[in-house]
Amino acid sequence: MAADDSSFQAKPSTRNVQHVVLGNLRFQTWYQSIYPEDLVTKETDTLYVCRWCFRYACDINAHARHTKLCPHRTTPPGTKVYDHGGYSVWEVDGADYKLFGQNLSLFAKLFLDHKSVFFDVLSFLYYLLVFTDPNDVHKSYHILGFFSKEKLSWDANNLACILIFPPYQRKQLGKLLMGVSYRLSGWERDSSLIGGPERPLSEMGQKSYSRFWEERIARHLVLLDSNASATGESEDAKTQKPSTKGSRKKNSHDIMTVQEIGQATGMLTEDVIATLRALGVIEPATPSKTRKGTHSGSRENEPVPVVVKRSRVLDWAKSSNVNLRDPVRDEGFLRNYSSTGEDRNTEPLGSDDDE
Ligand SMILES: [Zn+2]
Repeated sequence: MAADDSSFQAKPSTRNVQHVVLGNLRFQTWYQSIYPEDLVTKETDTLYVCRWCFRYACDINAHARHTKLCPHRTTPPGTKVYDHGGYSVWEVDGADYKLFGQNLSLFAKLFLDHKSVFFDVLSFLYYLLVFTDPNDVHKSYHILGFFSKEKLSWDANNLACILIFPPYQRKQLGKLLMGVSYRLSGWERDSSLIGGPERPLSEMGQKSYSRFWEERIARHLVLLDSNASATGESEDAKTQKPSTKGSRKKNSHDIMTVQEIGQATGMLTEDVIATLRALGVIEPATPSKTRKGTHSGSRENEPVPVVVKRSRVLDWAKSSNVNLRDPVRDEGFLRNYSSTGEDRNTEPLGSDDDE
């Protein structure tokens, strides 16, 4: 689990590779990876990595020869599931692209501190974040990061591991991938699929997810009664007149349950509670405000009513300098991946062309 928003300096002694060259970018590694020692010696200063397929070489000439012939130099492997504003997400099945999955994992491990089941590529899907500059006449593409997901997760984990490569961090791209991971989990059509990232989270992962969840719930609360949902813009919500449906008299307070918020956002109850506390927008519902039939004894899955002070959400967004616009756009999802899409009639992939 890696983050999107922090710079990091690793101790040189802990790493087998000191620097990587990815495309025309050279940058420092953070952690040790498990490249085969006969191919990558322990004192490798610079490892050359193909920016399309993550094949690696210590020798710059071997690297140059490969990049001229790389089978993925024009198109990423797998199937495109999202495309908006130059950013696209490609789903790659580790069973179909085994070598790609292995090489991506080896590269990612240079920037991830703990992942033990990381190399079991057959049981994982990889979602690549790809940027294509519309003004680039060559239409060359760049892989900026990825997240992985176990094909069968008993805990409904919608994400196993996420990494935005260091040169592309601090651009809010992790939030885009996290948002895509929730959407692809399918909770909107089947609430039993509500989940979240695999635990435990690293310190950086926790920080990234905390902010992502804060914005996710804040966006939900701001848009609850407003008519601004069509655009997803929140700036006007404060001045908007209350909905004429009007059963809710006070726009700034509301009684709802943690579970309702979880259903609306696809988030686990524990994540909703932690996020509401972090936002500072809730107070426990007093007994007179709770619904009839709610007993004081807390059972699991019993709705937990809370008073949400929604006026505080906008205060939080302002003081945190947060734009509540959703980085993930509905229209970006391709046919079988829309929120209402049921079947994923993925076309059969060709035989593995990268081995
Ligand atoms: Zn390549």
